[in-house]
Parts: sequence; C-alpha cells; structure tokens
Amino acid sequence: MATVEQQVNRDAHNGATPNGAAAGTDIPVENPATGQVVAHVPDLDAAAVAELAARARDAQPQWEAFGFDGRARILLRAQKWLIEHAERVIETIVSETGKTYEDAEFAEIAYAAGAFGFWAKNAPRYLADERVKSAQVLLKGKKLILRHRPLGLVGVIGPWNYPLTNSFGDCIPALAAGNSVILKPSEVTPLTSLLLAEGLRECGLPEGVFQVATGRGPTGAALTEQVDMIMFTGSTRTGRKVAAAAAERLIPCSLELGGKDPMIVLSDADLERAANVAVYYSMQNAGQTCISIERAYVEAPVYDEFVGKVSEKVRALRVGAPHGPGSVDVGAITFPPQLSTISEHVTEAVDKGARVLAGGKAVEGVGGRFYEPTVLVDVDHTMKIMTEETFGPTLPIMKVADAEEAVRLANESPYGLGASVFTKDTARGEQIARRLEAGAANVNDAVVNYTALELPMGGAKASGLGSRHGAGGIRKYCSQQAIVVTPRLAMKRELHMFPYKAKTTRMIARLFKLMYGRGDRD
Ligand code: NAD
Repeated sequence: MATVEQQVNRDAHNGATPNGAAAGTDIPVENPATGQVVAHVPDLDAAAVAELAARARDAQPQWEAFGFDGRARILLRAQKWLIEHAERVIETIVSETGKTYEDAEFAEIAYAAGAFGFWAKNAPRYLADERVKSAQVLLKGKKLILRHRPLGLVGVIGPWNYPLTNSFGDCIPALAAGNSVILKPSEVTPLTSLLLAEGLRECGLPEGVFQVATGRGPTGAALTEQVDMIMFTGSTRTGRKVAAAAAERLIPCSLELGGKDPMIVLSDADLERAANVAVYYSMQNAGQTCISIERAYVEAPVYDEFVGKVSEKVRALRVGAPHGPGSVDVGAITFPPQLSTISEHVTEAVDKGARVLAGGKAVEGVGGRFYEPTVLVDVDHTMKIMTEETFGPTLPIMKVADAEEAVRLANESPYGLGASVFTKDTARGEQIARRLEAGAANVNDAVVNYTALELPMGGAKASGLGSRHGAGGIRKYCSQQAIVVTPRLAMKRELHMFPYKAKTTRMIARLFKLMYGRGDRD
C-alpha cells in the first residue's frame, strides 16, 4: 500500500491534488529532524480553491441531511480509524514536524480521538432547538424557537505546530454541525491533513464534504474568499490579515493566535511540582505550543531553589531526532525561520545582561534543526525573550518581590492566551487567576485547560477572537435563526394594527404605564 507521502507525490506530479483539483507548483515537505524532503504537495491557486468550494457546496446539503445521528456514526468510525492507524498517523506527524513520538501521541492522537467522540456526543445537545419564553405581552401564546443551523461551507486555516490538533481538530465540530469543510494546513506540515482526509473517506464521509487545500499564504487568502466562515489558527500578524479579509466579505471569523504565557510561582508553592510543570510545559513539543509556558515570575524567597530545580531538570533533557517511543525528550524546530527567532531572543537577552543556566544555542552538525533546552535568569521586560513570542525550548525566569509585582508583569503584555499560578493556597490562587488577563488560567498546572473540551479555549487581547471548545466552539459554525409561530386560532387583527385609533393608542399607553412605570425613581 502506498504511503500518504508517495500518494501525494504521485498525485502532485500528475498535476492533480488528492481532491482532484488542478495544481500549481509543488511545495516540498521537509523532515525538520533530518533535513530530508519527504514529499511534495501542490500549491493550489485561487481557481483550484474555487473548484474545491463548488464541490463542497454541492456536497453540503446531503451531509446536513445525515442529521446528528448519521454524522455521529461517521465521526465515531473516524475515532476508531484513528486509533487503528495511530502508528501511521504518528509517523506522518513526526515526519513533517520532527517532534517526538510522545508529543505526537499525547498531544495529537489523544486530542483528536477524544474530539471525535466529544463532538459526536455533544453536537446534538449544543445545537438542539431551544424553546424560549418572552416577557413581551404581544407574543403571549406564540411559540418561540432559537435554532442553530450550519453556515454551509467552513474554511479552516492551520499552523504547523500541531497538524492534527490545531489544523484538523477544528474541522471536527464544523463537520459535526453539518457543514462542509475545506482545510488549508500549513505549507510546512500538510501531510497529516491529507492522511486524515483519506481516513474520513474510508469511514464513509461523502465526497466533497471534507477537502484539503494545500498551499501557502495565498491559498489561505483564496480560501477566505470562498467560505461562509473562517476558523484561523496561527500568528497574530496573519490573524489580522484574515480578520480584515473576513470583514471585507462580512463573514464571521474565529481567531486563535499567538501568546506569551506567564507562570507565577508564589513562595508557598509545591516547588517540586511547579518545577516539573515549568520544565514540561516550556519544553514539550520543543516549546512550539501556543499555550506553552514562555516566562516565569518567582517570589524572591523561593527563587533560588526553583531556579536550581528547573536548571537541573532541563540539563537532563535529551534533544535530537526521534526514533520511536522514549528515544528523546525534545524534538526538532519545525519551521526554519523559528530557529533564527529563538537564537535572536536568547542572544539579545544575553547581550542585555541575562545569564544562561542551561542550553543557550542551536545544536550544530546534526543534519536537522534543534535548539538546546534553555534556561535564562537575570531577565527583564526590556528583553524580547520576556515580551515577544519565542516559540522555542526556552524558559526565562524573573525574580519578583511579591504576587502583586508578578500579576502586574504577567499582564504587561499585548498577548493574553494562557497563564498559570502556583500556590498551596488554592483559594488565593483562584483569586490571582481571576486577575490575570488571559483566556485561560490554571492554578497549580498549565496547558491542561486545552484538554477540557467542555471549557472555552480562546485568547484575550492580541491572542485571538472567539474560542474553540464548549457550546461556543460549535455554535460559531452555525447561524442562529429565530422562529416565531403564531397558533392557528389567532386573532384576525392584533390590537396595535391599522387603522390607528386614539382610544386604542391611549389604552396601550396605559398598559405600558402599568407594566413599566409603577413605583418611584430612587
Ligand atoms: P502563520 O500565521 O504564519 O500561518 C498560519 C497559517 O496561515 C498557515 O497555514 C499559512 O499558510 C496561512 N496564511 C499565511 N498568510 C495568509 C493569508 N494572508 N490569508 C490566509 N492564510 C494565510 O502561523 P504559523 O507560523 O504557521 O503558526 C505559529 C503561530 O500559531 C504561533 O504564533 C502560535 O502561537 C500560533 N498558534 C496559536 C494557537 C492557538 O490556539 N491560539 C495554536 C497553535 C498555534
């Protein structure tokens, strides 16, 4: 059986995508851990995207007519398919991202498998018709319904750091709601999306309901021109462009953007746990996680002990090309320019007086792209490493006098994606969490809010607009329709209708007085 890479290569060289649309030039897909090109995919132009959109629109009514049960059956088959093909999917993710086997298994397979089941089960509940009661006298006796109906064609544009979770994952609720979906994965990591399209086809998803538009930025821009709603995950810079394009067309958009997530460690924290969480969630996926811990603020009394624990644990991490489960802890830097950003942030911090306690440079002479897991101290907010998204295996730690200073510095950022606070006094931790300007705040943990599909996950400030997960995470793929049904035996003419008569008007005014004007103003 051909691998997805071989298939993509063949299709690309035939001048057709796996969806059958005309292709432009090819995009090489590189394994960042080895530097080798593993496949080529087509770079679709606007005309090819328009063809995909036409096919998607033809297919959507049939998919909507499947109903919640019919769609859930396909999604649950896909859940089984994913687990049965987990090795192949992990191999594909690792081949295009260079991440470790575990980063693919724990943060991608686990997420998508759970999400298929979650949306299959919860879509009917979140999107059920709601019967509404109105206080409006004129509406007494009428039936009021709030209905959620699929928008039609949803475009999903994804980044390179989690090809399954962040690109494909957002397609699942859009499909569960009854939409057709076109996914534009990152040009850096398109193979996982193509493999999932193959899986969905095998599970009986009708042709045209889910398609993958491979390509670069212009392909994403072309997709935005075709769809009824755009779900974008990526950088704040591109997010602004997508929002502007969506505004021009007056279509809704949902934006999941960059972050600079702070961690606060108070002096009563369980330091061993705080250090383990800090190391794991700053270095996992080589720090290329939107909600990874990007900076830490530690109260002075426990600063030295915390820094000592973190540095020792980071020095013990094994970095390199993954060779199956358990082979390395920290994988490759997926996106070539990212290595320069990480190096630039570390170098600038050191030039301004920061000290490196672990790592501090790119790994040389290994073929792939790697950066040493790095701990920095003596840092402050004049340094990019503390203020701009680094998106690498780095943890700068800053000493603060108290919780007040920590909260002030944590909020001193244009971003507001995630945040965390560590203390044994969980009530105080919760109070501090409420003061943090972040879409999600964890007490004594980090990142795990993402796994609660019942909770909204979205950014405050420049980290995004809207959210994924929870009721809002599927309702955004629908338009709301209000339906008002007047019963068969209604009055032939309502009181307020033509012809206007002074007597009736005065009676209605008295009624308003009775309803809204009783009592004194205080
Ligand atoms: P990016 O903004 O460079 O690209 C994201 C996607 O947008 C890619 O598919 C790209 O081809 C496409 N694109 C580029 N120009 C476009 C345009 N004009 N119109 C439409 N699409 C266009 O981001 P990236 O480097 O791939 O991803 C890393 C960023 O993603 C980081 O900032 C990270 O924090 C963020 N991210 C956020 C979340 C979240 O949930 N908030 C999750 C993962 C990643």
